[in-house]
Amino acid sequence: MTHQLVPFSQFVLKVHSRCDLACDHCYVYEHADTSWRGRPRAISEPVLARTAERIAEHARTHRLPAVHVVLHGGEPLLAGPRLLRRAAELLRAALPPGCELDLRIHTNGVRLDRAFCALFDELDIKVGISLDGDAAANDRHRRFADGRSSHAKVLAAVALLRSPEFRHLYAGLLCTIDVANDPIAVYEALRALEPPRIDFLLPHATWDQPPKRPAELGEHPYAHWLLAIHRRWEQQGRPFPVRTFDSVHRTLHGGASLTEALGLDPADLVVIETDGSFEQADSLKTAYDGAPATGFDVFTDTLDEVARHPGMQARQSGLAGLNATCRACPVVRSCGGGLFAHRWRTGAGFDNPSVFCGDLMRLITTIRDRIAPTATAPLGGPSTEQSGTEQPGTEQPGTELPGTDRLGPDQLGQLARGHGDAATVAALAAGQLDLTRRLLAAVGRQAGEAWQLLTELDATAPAAVDAVLAHPYVRSWAVGLLRAEPGDPAAEPDTLAEIAAAALIRAGRDAELPVPVRGGAIQLPTLGRVLVGGAGPAVLRGGADRFTVRSAAGVTRVVGFDQPTDPGWLPVRRLGFAGGWSVAVEDTDPQRDCHRWPAEQRLTEAALGDWTGALREAWELLLRDLPQYAAGIAAGLTTITPLRPGPGGRQLGSTARQAFGAVALARPRTAPDLALLLVREFQQVKLGAVVDFHDLYDRADRRLHPAPWAADPQSVAELFPGAYGRLAVTEFWGSRVAAYAGVGGEAAEHARERFRVERERTDRAIDTLLGSGSLTPLGERFAAGLRESLPDGGAEAPADRPLGADRPAPAGR
Ligand code: SF4
Repeated sequence: MTHQLVPFSQFVLKVHSRCDLACDHCYVYEHADTSWRGRPRAISEPVLARTAERIAEHARTHRLPAVHVVLHGGEPLLAGPRLLRRAAELLRAALPPGCELDLRIHTNGVRLDRAFCALFDELDIKVGISLDGDAAANDRHRRFADGRSSHAKVLAAVALLRSPEFRHLYAGLLCTIDVANDPIAVYEALRALEPPRIDFLLPHATWDQPPKRPAELGEHPYAHWLLAIHRRWEQQGRPFPVRTFDSVHRTLHGGASLTEALGLDPADLVVIETDGSFEQADSLKTAYDGAPATGFDVFTDTLDEVARHPGMQARQSGLAGLNATCRACPVVRSCGGGLFAHRWRTGAGFDNPSVFCGDLMRLITTIRDRIAPTATAPLGGPSTEQSGTEQPGTEQPGTELPGTDRLGPDQLGQLARGHGDAATVAALAAGQLDLTRRLLAAVGRQAGEAWQLLTELDATAPAAVDAVLAHPYVRSWAVGLLRAEPGDPAAEPDTLAEIAAAALIRAGRDAELPVPVRGGAIQLPTLGRVLVGGAGPAVLRGGADRFTVRSAAGVTRVVGFDQPTDPGWLPVRRLGFAGGWSVAVEDTDPQRDCHRWPAEQRLTEAALGDWTGALREAWELLLRDLPQYAAGIAAGLTTITPLRPGPGGRQLGSTARQAFGAVALARPRTAPDLALLLVREFQQVKLGAVVDFHDLYDRADRRLHPAPWAADPQSVAELFPGAYGRLAVTEFWGSRVAAYAGVGGEAAEHARERFRVERERTDRAIDTLLGSGSLTPLGERFAAGLRESLPDGGAEAPADRPLGADRPAPAGR
């Protein structure tokens, strides 16, 4: 196994090691580590210069597009303007071309005046201010050594930053939580200061020194404190980013956390002390004396060497670096075991859940439930948040995402073994439809008339709406829209009107709706394409057996479902096969062009005939030889999207992660080749639907492993679907071996060789997955299930039993 070195991109540069406040919750001076006593008060110019060279060297080595440096302390303003200027100048001068410097300073604010602001304006240094809330909240801890309040001085500093002259320097507020403070009072006091961002920080604590938990505040006071603010923040329309909440939201949707305190992303932060020592995260100062030390410094060691330090690697190893409790935890992808320092317990080290475990669990599960409307909610119904039905304390820690329980234990077992009968795949499809409904609810509410019509249809003709929402490319469109930046021309919000129009037609409802004309045509997902020419908008009117489109240019087209030869109407064509498989050949929807290779143009009738014949033959082969895959394909493979032929006749097959039910293919020369592509690609469709609801592996684990089928090593996130698909390929070749049983010749020999190679590759990949340390307990069950299904090696397939039928695990595994 290769441990991929994760380069640092965040650098905390201690420019002064003392402070002019005496906050009693400060981890630098009030916690276990006492290394500050032996450090120079201020950083020296030689240390600054060497630090700048080390960061630049690291940026060059790893071709970093940007580095983020925070000038920190103690109190960094105590370093004075001359040193702060030198820090900015040296850092900027050293960085290679093409590497941006994002330079910030985190200060308590009491010394921040116009002169400092002018300096930061000149040097482009953004300013973050530590402030714990209103006067009462802030004065609880943030006082001068003689007991005086710091609050007025900090407010004066923030006022300077809010002035038009310096507003662009204002980076945000950092607030350390004290549950004795009223959360809403704290939040509103901070909101009044118009922060560009707020970061709420849990107070540093360990299992040796647990956080205070006043009995009257219940079992999870930190969760309740944050959740009260989260509710207010949501009700106000998220007026500014809050790093904790944004990180939970992002990780719940599979994205990266914005803070080391949450998520499984590898830590990429290092600290440089005033004497040039490299240290791990400052928060470790709370664990034990000397905990953050690495033994490296800027004069003798590169940052690559620091990145290989065991402590750094432990903070970068994601799921594999967590204790067993966290590894099995349903919210581990969002929580990540909390901040590394908060796991410390004398005797057990860091191999524990966070001391804030219960709070983190409550926080994440409640936010998850707040932002995910229930699976059965109608499209236009109130979200959980808006309905106001949720009461504090009703959240169920550990509950799964809506839709998960659609799979029974037996169905999950079938999927773990790489297969899945019709009911199992139908349950996956139902879960996917729920997901699409939730996504549409997120993107649709702003869509006015189209959204209103869609929600009305959902109440009166839900089957028509479901038929459209089950179209694979509805979800891929919605995800693209959610991910698009404002103004992104690729976002196409008008597609919602097309979806509503298709549902209107399916419902046979007599109503009108404006629809966009793009490329001279109106797209109706699942139905087809109406050619009207010109540009939109047009007006579509539904009806019982026909619909009418009136374009802006005055063209009126009446489409009757009994007139399939109308040259202005390009319907989606469906093919039906024995055994109940019905599949659409999608060659009209522009959204289909989201696969790895370009989509084919509209098929001619002759080309469609070729596809029909090839699919029929391939399907008959699957029904006969691979029934353990055919049943699932019949239930879930709804759409074939033809691709343009690959170069040199290369066989192309592709799935899109957000397009459940679709497989895109360039038609291969033979029916067995087509059958092979169908089973291999549909494995990706099934597995993608499983991982939407279940964690099989640590998604943030970037370590690379040898991949038996590729020259380059792959992450577990790539190996897992690879092995899942290869099982089907192995079983396919096993079926060919069985088909050629007793027959000699080149084809039989080829099948035997392919079977041997694919079986061996799959076996090795399963070994690698099981040894990766990255699998969740369910992921381990899947890997073991794949092994169970892997046909016996060396033997030709018994003729009386379909290859891949479930069997006991071979002895010794
Ligand atoms: S909630 Fe607790 S058990 Fe779950 S990952 Fe976080 S610290 Fe670990």
